[in-house]
Amino acid sequence: MATELVYARGRRSSKLSSQWYSAPVRLARKGAAVAGAVASDDWTGMSRPLERVLGKRSANALAKIGLKTVRDLVYHFPFRLAKRGELMPISQVTEGESVTVIARVLSVNLRPMNSRRGFILTIEVTDGENDLSLTFFAKSPRPLQYHERRLAPGTVATFSGTVGSYRGQLQLSHPEYDEPDSEKMGRPIPIYHAAEKLPSWKIEKAVETVLPTLSEADFPDPLPAAYREANGLPGLFEAIQILHHPQDVDPWERARLRMKHQEALVLQTALAERGRRAREHAVKPYADQGGKLLEAFDAQLPYTLTDGQRAVGREIAADLARQIPMQRLLQGDVGAGKTVVALRAMLQVIDSGGQAALLAPTEVLAWQHLRTIEALLGPQHVMDVGLEILTGSLTAATRRRTLARIASGQAGLIVGTHALLSEDVQIPFLGLAVIDEQHRFGVDQRDRLASGVHTLVMTATPIPRTIAMSVFGDLDVSTLRELPAGRAGITTTIVPAANPVWMNRVWQRAREEVDGGGRAYVVCPRIDPEEGQASVTETATNLRADSALAGIGIGVIHGQMGQDEKAQAMEEFATGRVPVLVSTTVIEVGVDVRQATLMIIMDADRFGLSQLHQLRGRIGRGSAPGLCLAVTGVPDGTLARARLDAFASTTDGFALAEEDLRLRSEGDVLGASQSGGVSHLQFLSVLKDMDIIEVARTAARHLVLEPLPPALADEVALLERADYLEKG
Ligand code: ADP
Ligand code: MG
Repeated sequence: MATELVYARGRRSSKLSSQWYSAPVRLARKGAAVAGAVASDDWTGMSRPLERVLGKRSANALAKIGLKTVRDLVYHFPFRLAKRGELMPISQVTEGESVTVIARVLSVNLRPMNSRRGFILTIEVTDGENDLSLTFFAKSPRPLQYHERRLAPGTVATFSGTVGSYRGQLQLSHPEYDEPDSEKMGRPIPIYHAAEKLPSWKIEKAVETVLPTLSEADFPDPLPAAYREANGLPGLFEAIQILHHPQDVDPWERARLRMKHQEALVLQTALAERGRRAREHAVKPYADQGGKLLEAFDAQLPYTLTDGQRAVGREIAADLARQIPMQRLLQGDVGAGKTVVALRAMLQVIDSGGQAALLAPTEVLAWQHLRTIEALLGPQHVMDVGLEILTGSLTAATRRRTLARIASGQAGLIVGTHALLSEDVQIPFLGLAVIDEQHRFGVDQRDRLASGVHTLVMTATPIPRTIAMSVFGDLDVSTLRELPAGRAGITTTIVPAANPVWMNRVWQRAREEVDGGGRAYVVCPRIDPEEGQASVTETATNLRADSALAGIGIGVIHGQMGQDEKAQAMEEFATGRVPVLVSTTVIEVGVDVRQATLMIIMDADRFGLSQLHQLRGRIGRGSAPGLCLAVTGVPDGTLARARLDAFASTTDGFALAEEDLRLRSEGDVLGASQSGGVSHLQFLSVLKDMDIIEVARTAARHLVLEPLPPALADEVALLERADYLEKG
């Protein structure tokens, strides 16, 4: 029920999935939670059902948008203010929409209908620029005379209804309307997210009935007085009054600021508590004592580590040597060389008798990690380490044997996919969990492997600091800023799909690349053909028949193939036997074939910016320069094309992430699985309210050192509870 409320008030309709936190859900849930949890509440104060206060009719209407208790209603805040007198534009009214306009009555006309029995009242209104007509019908003139009296020419009122049209003219029939009384004339009008048959002003009226029955005691303030004073913020009760009955814009903005601080402080306190709890339990330290595996590994490494890899390596080594569990995020652009950093950390742990696990988001990537590790360690050390892989495609017998080796501690380094998270996997000496491409995992998945052990999460999707702080709370962050030297760089060109000359050139280019010893990926958005979209099967068939590529092996890889088939396809591609690989985004993350120099992305407009960037990161990994050809049918001047232009203009993942933010809403940026409730905050924006989040975070870190003030503790507990409920 509370969840409905959130969606009813916001425009977003996306479903919260496995999310760990949601402030507005918390706010909204509070009524329900309190009603359920505190039996003594006894239908007084905030938990009273609206029916008791407002009557059945109004209560039913409000229930339709999820408002059932007094608390639900008072926490349903207006989302903006309209000024009386400053008329809302009729020009923006469109047919079929539910609208509220403020307008002045121009003329009123009551007359019998021509063709039928009954009467019609037509009222012309204006907002000063455009006119709109309102119509009311009735069998007798009596009810219409009532409206006629109330809406005399010159009257200014708010009109709500669904816009229809009659003979080409837009009109509202039987609109709801409200004439502002004189006392309210000078004040701004709060506008609530409304619904059909429940216009904003009806919600306003309901709030007006309910609020006076409440007192300050109903609103224990989660913001400590000192915090409020330091930041010049009104108390909760006062803020609630102001938000619903704004006298002016400034105090309203201050009340909103206060609510932002409240959301930020509750969230940051919850995160700080988690961080404190996570660090409270000592874990086994794994000092770097120049163990033989790590030493042998470093000696065999075919390149020298970059300064960044060294520095981050030192940070991690120091973390591992402590009893406080490491909680570190390693971010670095695609190709920055994160894997080797993680591997060295894992070897440090194994050298001291622990086990280490590396969680990868796809099977392709897990196997690749396995091969990379084998190559870097050499056969003898692979034996010493005890290298195992656990994925969903193992046969039952293999899986059993693998699980046994993991459970006995024989397996030191375990690479795996989601299969690692299943309940029958026991890793008794687990000392370090590494989560690669963490944005592919939900927070709870991460927790399942990595609670109570040193944890390193890695990402190539740079996230703005505020989001990192809001989602990851107390993680320490390390960043690899440079790519390893000797990369020749990648050029990106946009290719118009409709131009046959260009397209021919694309395939010739693939031939040249292969002839020069390179490899080419051809990525399509789909596996099977569908009207108007490039598919793997169709593209592969076409390329096999294309004279430009005669004699060149064309392979395919996609998620519906079995693991063996996929492994074989990757193998043939890597060795060069089949140097052109037509693929879906299964190769999107992590895949590392150094000879790959050409990336052709079909229907590039169908991919997100960070996805494109990840795809492009598959090439230019060796010393030969990379070329990325983004094929698209979208014309210039569209948003989709603007995204592709941004993609072509830079290879800097951080710059692209920022551009991505500009082009998308913040909820999308994280994706449902890890956004938590952050994208559903009612007041706080994790992108724009950086300064507020910083203030709240600093305060929260101090607050959790002592018992929390009760009102704040309540909110944090409710948030954890909402989180728990979300996870189901
Ligand atoms: P990512 O950070 O995207 O996971 P990888 O760990 O896959 O990047 O590394 C990309 C490529 O760079 C790999 O082929 C890896 O062997 C290589 N590499 C990593 N570190 C270095 C280095 N210091 N010098 C040269 N090549 C390196
Ligand atoms: Mg990687």
